[in-house]
Amino acid sequence: MTDKQSMDTFVSLCKRRGFVFQSSEIYGGLGGFWDYGPLGVELKNNIKRSWWRNTVQERADVVGIETSIIMNPRVWEASGHVQTFADPMVDCKKCKHRFRTDDIKPNDKGEISCPDCSGELTDSRMFNLMFKTFIGPVADDASVAYLRPETAQGMFVNFENVLTTMRKKLPFGIAQIGRSFRNEITPGNFIFRDREFEQMEMEFFVMPGTDEEWHDRWIETRMNWWTEDLGIRKENLQLREHPEEELSHYSKRTVDIDYNFPFAGFSEVEGIANRTDFDLKAHEEAAGRTLRYFDEPSGESIVPYVIEPAMGVDRCFLTILIDSYVEEEVKDEKRTVLRLKPHLAPIKVAVLPLSRNEKLTPTAQRVHELLRPHFMTQFDDAQSIGRRYRRQDEIGTPYCVTVDFDTLDDDAVTIRDRDTMTQDRVPVSNLPDVLREKLPPV
Ligand code: ATP
Repeated sequence: MTDKQSMDTFVSLCKRRGFVFQSSEIYGGLGGFWDYGPLGVELKNNIKRSWWRNTVQERADVVGIETSIIMNPRVWEASGHVQTFADPMVDCKKCKHRFRTDDIKPNDKGEISCPDCSGELTDSRMFNLMFKTFIGPVADDASVAYLRPETAQGMFVNFENVLTTMRKKLPFGIAQIGRSFRNEITPGNFIFRDREFEQMEMEFFVMPGTDEEWHDRWIETRMNWWTEDLGIRKENLQLREHPEEELSHYSKRTVDIDYNFPFAGFSEVEGIANRTDFDLKAHEEAAGRTLRYFDEPSGESIVPYVIEPAMGVDRCFLTILIDSYVEEEVKDEKRTVLRLKPHLAPIKVAVLPLSRNEKLTPTAQRVHELLRPHFMTQFDDAQSIGRRYRRQDEIGTPYCVTVDFDTLDDDAVTIRDRDTMTQDRVPVSNLPDVLREKLPPV
């Protein structure tokens, strides 16, 4: 398969099975915006839960918050986003297509021209990626506001609120999951680069001087989450150190976690930056407030340094789907399986009567009702049992419970395992406990 074909396979699977739809599709869609269907929202919620558990719940030194998408516009002046959050872009004078200047490569003859029509390009100019809006009824300069391009500033401006209300001592972190918006010049590669997306970010405040060590620790912690919690194959991940010229204006050192995407090669899925004391100092100055930590042992008020792991949920979603997608031959038949870790699977258990039959259906429905309070389940009695197993394999359901004619006598069912395809017979009365043991909570 070519990379284009493999990408098309995913987009089609995602649509066909209710993972991801184009936003406002009936109107032709909207570039860079996507909707998540019934299975997509489950996978997305499971990713977020896994991150929150690992980053907040299981740690004594991190707390969570949720801040508003639109903030006082002075936040974005202080953070540097109004001045510097921009990408260079060029337009084609002929076909009018727009490109990021960094995406334009010279052709075989070393000439620079439009990649689509070979037309002449305009000079490069900077384009700010923040979406602008207006607050209140009057659309003038005084009412301009921005949709946040990152969630991080919500943590910085709440530094003091969290510090005092939670009585935290350094080092400690503030985490948030929420929507961010970037008016990307060239959104694309499905949900890889969107204009509206969700981020999971954490600002970890540390004593200056301990920042480099904490940075290394967080790189390791985050890499472990990708491989252990999400089950992404190690050989498809790598760390990439930002060279000096690529560092953001606030960063002393940034290391990306890159995934080997079939359509783009190794590309960023998470960035782990040492933001120094840049943001807190910038807000101190702009807001005229002290944002400090009183260090009792030394009696000094200090501005902490910040280590920030920042990632996008949507890009992570794509990574998981690609990495878990397997096509294999079983008894001369092709089967497509999403080998998702069970805690990520949208549906944990499918209940399938052997066939659509008036004797089996009520029993199968009773089994379904028994399991529904415990797990995300699906009931399916359409078409042959083999086809139904394949359908569940394709969406990554770890277990199928089959109700057959013997069930009517022995009140037992079979549990089929997605990966090994083995079947175990279990009494219905034990079923919730047996499955609970197999399916750890998210
Ligand atoms: P890129 O270089 O791909 O534009 P970035 O370096 O600007 O990304 P960060 O500002 O470090 O990205 O954002 C942190 C994370 O947020 C990224 O690792 C990515 O997972 C996610 N992210 C950033 N921009 C987008 C986008 N337009 N669509 C989807 N996810 C995004």
